[in-house]
Amino acid sequence: MISARGLSKTYRTKGDDTLALDEVTIDVDSGQFYVLLGPSGSGKTTMLRCLAGLETPDRGTILVDGWTVMSSDDHTFVPAERRPIGMVFQSYALWPTMDVTKNVSLPLRHGARGVPKDQVADRVKGVLDLLHLSPMARRPVQALSGGQQQRVALARALALEPAVLLMDEPLSNLDVQLRAELRIEIKSLTRRLGITAVYVTHDQADAMVMADVACVMNAGRVLQQGTPSDLYREPADLFVAGFLGELNRIDGKVRSCDDRSCEVETPLGTFTARRDPGVDPQAAVVLGIRLEAVRWSDAPGPNRFEATVLERMFMGGDIVYRMVAGDHSLRVRRTSAGDDIPATDSPVFVEFPHESLTAFPST
Ligand code: ADP
Repeated sequence: MISARGLSKTYRTKGDDTLALDEVTIDVDSGQFYVLLGPSGSGKTTMLRCLAGLETPDRGTILVDGWTVMSSDDHTFVPAERRPIGMVFQSYALWPTMDVTKNVSLPLRHGARGVPKDQVADRVKGVLDLLHLSPMARRPVQALSGGQQQRVALARALALEPAVLLMDEPLSNLDVQLRAELRIEIKSLTRRLGITAVYVTHDQADAMVMADVACVMNAGRVLQQGTPSDLYREPADLFVAGFLGELNRIDGKVRSCDDRSCEVETPLGTFTARRDPGVDPQAAVVLGIRLEAVRWSDAPGPNRFEATVLERMFMGGDIVYRMVAGDHSLRVRRTSAGDDIPATDSPVFVEFPHESLTAFPST
């Protein structure tokens, strides 16, 4: 549905060039919910604006549904208003004094994708019903809550019946609970309408809940694309591992290595770990393990070391233990229902099971 190949973009400001996109290639299937995930400044918004036609890449091509909307090879550039794309911004970008109906209908009446006059009212009614906004159809948007305003912004984009909906951090001004509700609503809405969605966020929870495919970006580059569970279980590098989910990290040096595993020396002892393909046996590594993969026992053994529980943090369904071993602090997650509880007053032997422990190249 969307195929963007080799997109590069440098912003040139006086004496200061910023490479915002560095050969970015993504493919989004029809009906897919695709999430661009990365820290601030990683190039997500630039990517979205290039897809929308609000920014011109220096190099690359963009196809939407087989139609070349941008190509640096032959200087093709289809302007934003002619692309079959709708967009929702973090800032809502609504007209505050106009009522909900006007906000949604105005682009239908006056935009480049103008809808026949006799269809406008039906279209507006349809999307307002869909987004539970009909009871406030005549209210000025400034008299609505943040969540309701973001719904109006969504309704306005959806009323144009775009094949593709681009969303730039649309939930970041909302409180945690509303965010959680709207996440699910947006996902199920786009699925029901068969819309292809590209969603920008720096919030891993957005990606975990909504993404069919997530694309982790950093410094203008794509680091990895895949389902959230693939990225969580098989991260391409330490950055992805730390960005999608939490991780305990221990610095170490490789003692010996074969293709698949490494013996790594650390201040906490020697560990056997899975080998990330990028590991150079001569260079420093970082051992990484998910919080829920850590085990404990009352006896020493391979991949085990002595540690003490400092704190027990109740998080509802989970308990997170903060532990200390030498100078290292680490965290361990257990379900509250489990009976695998360490004593808080005496040392325990913590185990990093080798199948859950990965040696990554140190960056
Ligand atoms: P993200 O959405 O991941 O936060 P952006 O795409 O907004 O990242 O920005 C990528 C990089 O490009 C950043 O270093 C940012 O400062 C820079 N940048 C973005 N827009 C402009 C602009 N209009 N002029 C100059 N630099 C920009």
